[in-house]
Amino acid sequence: MDCIFCEIKNRKADAEILFEDENVIAFLDIQPINYGHTLVVPKNHYDNFLTIPKDELSKLMQATQFIAGAVKRSMNADGFNVVSNNGSSAGQSVYHFHFHIIPRFNKDFSLKPSFKTYSSGAMKDYANQVRTFISKYRDIYYE
Ligand code: 5GP
Ligand code: ZN
Repeated sequence: MDCIFCEIKNRKADAEILFEDENVIAFLDIQPINYGHTLVVPKNHYDNFLTIPKDELSKLMQATQFIAGAVKRSMNADGFNVVSNNGSSAGQSVYHFHFHIIPRFNKDFSLKPSFKTYSSGAMKDYANQVRTFISKYRDIYYE
């Protein structure tokens, strides 16, 4: 499989590795939005947020919390974003699931899109569309 994150994990490609345990590896993003921008990656290859098994996601999330604290403090950041891009429409470019930790500084840049407004009654319609799927799959997910 041709996956740069698998190559980094297997030491077939170089990276500034910050953390590693049985399940997770974290390294600096080669194209940082701010210095210290870090990627937290499960060692096993899954395409995206929906395909990583729950137990592995929990471990990844826990490592992300720990590393986010270290990145924020070491970079003297004012805050940080934890982001996962899923699908090309969402900006995903590496199809090995990962979280970005992006240190943020007061007034560094704005991520605000132009917001939409629900027309009258439309909010309920959108909520119903989502609820249909939630009620259909809830028992399977939480079994
Ligand atoms: P995505 O666009 O999928 O959310 O994030 C992929 C990230 O991986 C990008 O921010 C990109 O800069 C980073 N990236 C791509 N190739 C490499 C690489 O070879 N080494 C490192 N350290 N980061 C990479
Ligand atoms: Zn991979």
